[in-house]
Amino acid sequence: MLKKVRTLWSRYALSPKPAVVYSAALASCLLTGWLLSLLVTWQQDRTELHERVSLLTQQLDQQIGLANGALGRIDGVPVSAACDLPRQMLASVVQSTPHARYALRVGADGTACTSDLSRQDVPALPGDGRVLLLSGSRDGKAVLRLQRHGYGVSMIELGGDAFVNLLQQAASGDMQAYMVLGEQYLAADGKVHPMDDSIGQGLSYSLPAPSGQFSIVMQESWLSVLEGSLLRRPDTLLLAVLAGLVLAWSLLRREVARNSTGWEIAQGIRNREFFTHYQPIVTAEHGECVGVEVLARWRHPVQGAIRSDLFIPAAEDAGLIVPLTRYLIRRVTKELKQVALPPGFFVGINIAAEHLGMPDLVEDCKILLAVLREKKAVLVLEVSERYPLPEHQVTHRVVQDLRQMGVKLALDDFGIGHADRNYLRRWGFDYLKVEKGYVSALGKDSFKTNILDGLLQTSHQLGVQVIVKGVETQGQQNYLSVKGFEFLQGFYFGKPMTLNHFRQWLYSGITQDRVPAAVGLGRAEATDR
Ligand code: C2E
Ligand code: CA
Repeated sequence: MLKKVRTLWSRYALSPKPAVVYSAALASCLLTGWLLSLLVTWQQDRTELHERVSLLTQQLDQQIGLANGALGRIDGVPVSAACDLPRQMLASVVQSTPHARYALRVGADGTACTSDLSRQDVPALPGDGRVLLLSGSRDGKAVLRLQRHGYGVSMIELGGDAFVNLLQQAASGDMQAYMVLGEQYLAADGKVHPMDDSIGQGLSYSLPAPSGQFSIVMQESWLSVLEGSLLRRPDTLLLAVLAGLVLAWSLLRREVARNSTGWEIAQGIRNREFFTHYQPIVTAEHGECVGVEVLARWRHPVQGAIRSDLFIPAAEDAGLIVPLTRYLIRRVTKELKQVALPPGFFVGINIAAEHLGMPDLVEDCKILLAVLREKKAVLVLEVSERYPLPEHQVTHRVVQDLRQMGVKLALDDFGIGHADRNYLRRWGFDYLKVEKGYVSALGKDSFKTNILDGLLQTSHQLGVQVIVKGVETQGQQNYLSVKGFEFLQGFYFGKPMTLNHFRQWLYSGITQDRVPAAVGLGRAEATDR
């Protein structure tokens, strides 16, 4: 998993310049810090909102509870046609009830008495005992009316100012408080508004019975949370940024310390320090060059040429083998454009097993394939037996897609791993490249020689072709040719060389010197640079 992440990181981190990478790292730190601060602000505001709303609920409940108590006293007022005594009693209830402005008692026979001589009209009193929030009563201000139906009707009216004051106290900055009653609500602006959807999105508390018909809604705008996260809590923001920076720095340091070769390789790819050598592959029978293997080379600006058996494993460990291969493929594509190749010529590229599990490989190969197709040449991807191919659906699909595009697959270093017939069949290799040790063991190690001899039969059964690597002497070539091996590769025919040397080598008839020993030709020097 970690390796996968590293591979992905290296794939995408390689292309931009370091400044871009560091800016992106810093930006992500700042973003993390700000998100953290936003979360803290939101949580703190939420707690404050809860506290405010519960305080407001208590205060309103208290007020309405007193008005409800007054209604009980109004129930006991005896109504008579003259209304003098009832008016006095009602006026005393109004005086002793906070914020009460008016009281009314309607007897069972319909006789009505009010606390106020100037208001003799009997308002419409719905029979369900609802609490009403009225707007624009006599002085244009909001009014709360509580009424009770029983033996007649009792009603008390409270001025809205007291409630508006409470709402104003509860609200602060961008926090708004509303007192909701049915399809209306009272806002801190002192007005009664018809209910709308935005109010329903706030934090809502219902008042306990008997004030249960009310609910309190408190809201805070997102803009103020955003603003608060930046302005009100610079401490959180700063701490989070510092923590992010420390974390990023320590991660970077660990990564650099653990994997400084990795950074060198990444730098090398960026600076185009890697280049390619080509090693011929020839027919055993006539020594005719039928293909080439591309081999990576690294010329380090300080350390000079670095051996590929050192930097390839390092690149694999650092998760950089894929970007390196991708770079080499692009380079080979450019280089081979300039070379005329014999028809059917195969170009072998070494691919790490993990690369075959990446669908991007198909894309990576497309441009090279187009160039090779023009030359009627074939692309062969060499995967080592050292690391078994991952048995994932993706890998099988990638292999299948590559096959459909005409790409061939070679199992490299054959003989050192554990590839059995099933493995070979499952992945459908076209070539087996026998590990060098088998050739160098010829005449010295009969066990290995026997295995090599038996390989031809197995390869015929499996329908794969064998390429024997590491051929260094005429004797080895003789032996292999007589045994019937088809393709050979080794210093005896040609060392890995630059493209220019390879071109000269290919067309100067050097291969003529490499016909079987039976023909009796001598050895020519193959050049490395
Ligand atoms: P390989 O795939 O087995 O490549 C052949 C290696 O054997 C090359 O070593 C070549 O120089 C060497 N060789 C060829 N003929 C002879 C011979 O007659 N005698 C002896 N003693 N050696 C011979 P090189 O270039 O050092 O590469 C070493 C390994 O590094 C390669 O082994 C391959 O596994 C890996 N490699 C090289 N280039 C790449 C690359 O671009 N990608 C990947 N994934 N691996 C690469
Ligand atoms: Ca190889």
